[in-house]
Amino acid sequence: MAGEAQSDCLFCKIVAGDVPATVVRETETTVAFRDINPQAPTHVLVIPKVHYPDAASLAAAEPKIAADVLREAGEVAAEEKADSYRIVFNTGTGAGQTVFHAHAHVLGGRGLQWPPG
Ligand code: C5P
Repeated sequence: MAGEAQSDCLFCKIVAGDVPATVVRETETTVAFRDINPQAPTHVLVIPKVHYPDAASLAAAEPKIAADVLREAGEVAAEEKADSYRIVFNTGTGAGQTVFHAHAHVLGGRGLQWPPG
């Protein structure tokens, strides 16, 4: 059921501490950890502790927690001293989403091109 931890979800396992991650920040509702395959000097994922498959479904069901994810993305960028950065929510396989637990990529520390690929 949406919102509840899913036994087959990698990011639910990171929230539970069953899969290791390099955690940089944690709040009551979110966890932020370094991406295992960084695409920029700063590449941190901010996830809600509750399980929703993507950012829009999280925002529809839990708008406060969606706002928490965005605020934490900004806190990560500040801690990393990334004054220019990008927050990305890949949504759907065609957009590159591979983990179906909502997550914000926080990318910074280098120039970022537009439009993205
Ligand atoms: O947007 P997408 O679903 O592709 O993002 C998932 C991200 O999770 C990838 O950037 C991948 O490198 C990262 N990942 C991770 N730790 C894992 C498994 C995946 O940081 N154990």
